[in-house]
Amino acid sequence: MRPINEIIVHCTATPEGRPVTVAEIDSWHRARGWSGIGYHRVIGLNGERWAGRPLDKIGAHCEGHNERSLGVVYAGGVARDGKTAKDTRNAAQASALLAELVELRDRFNIKKLSGHNEYANKACPSFDASKVYDYLFEGRSKGFKPILDAVLKRRDFGPEVADWKDRLKAWRKTIPMAGPLLDGDAFDHNTEMTTILFQKSRGIVADGKVGPQTRSEMELALAGKPPFQALG
Ligand SMILES: [Zn+2]
Repeated sequence: MRPINEIIVHCTATPEGRPVTVAEIDSWHRARGWSGIGYHRVIGLNGERWAGRPLDKIGAHCEGHNERSLGVVYAGGVARDGKTAKDTRNAAQASALLAELVELRDRFNIKKLSGHNEYANKACPSFDASKVYDYLFEGRSKGFKPILDAVLKRRDFGPEVADWKDRLKAWRKTIPMAGPLLDGDAFDHNTEMTTILFQKSRGIVADGKVGPQTRSEMELALAGKPPFQALG
């Protein structure tokens, strides 16, 4: 096996809602004169997890960074107008992508994840992949600081709150639920309500405050694991 130390996330740059197959991507890449599909894993529109290029073969997905990386792509990344970059991951895709990333991380002990847009002047994958998935690498990937131990609650604000809201958003993408806006760095009403929904879903005290138990439940949830109380 070749040395692998990074996962690079991509989108197919196809319009929201349009199905894309491995064969189709393969034909696009052959048309460019490549030996075939350049990505190692493909997440289909309905959350399918497909194999692309064999993992032990160097990919063709990110110029200058193919040798030691794996390329994972999801179908979408562009709005229905066919040109505006958009994070089009639906709940099934978000959950399949997360599962795929965790599996590859554990299989190859990978400690770094990047979005294609960190290496090229492109929108791909149309979201801030290294930030969104940094928690999977315990902050090691790009040096984002993990959440502090302090309890966060209504009317708090700052980077730790923004970080918690990012986690709430990531969690919400794993379940079929639309929710209120979670922008900015203030612990507002929406943040509190979404925190309560999260706590209820995990069977822990639903007080809308973010302490160690709520945080560790979030780590379990984002890793696709059952509530702590249900373990063992
Ligand atoms: Zn890309």
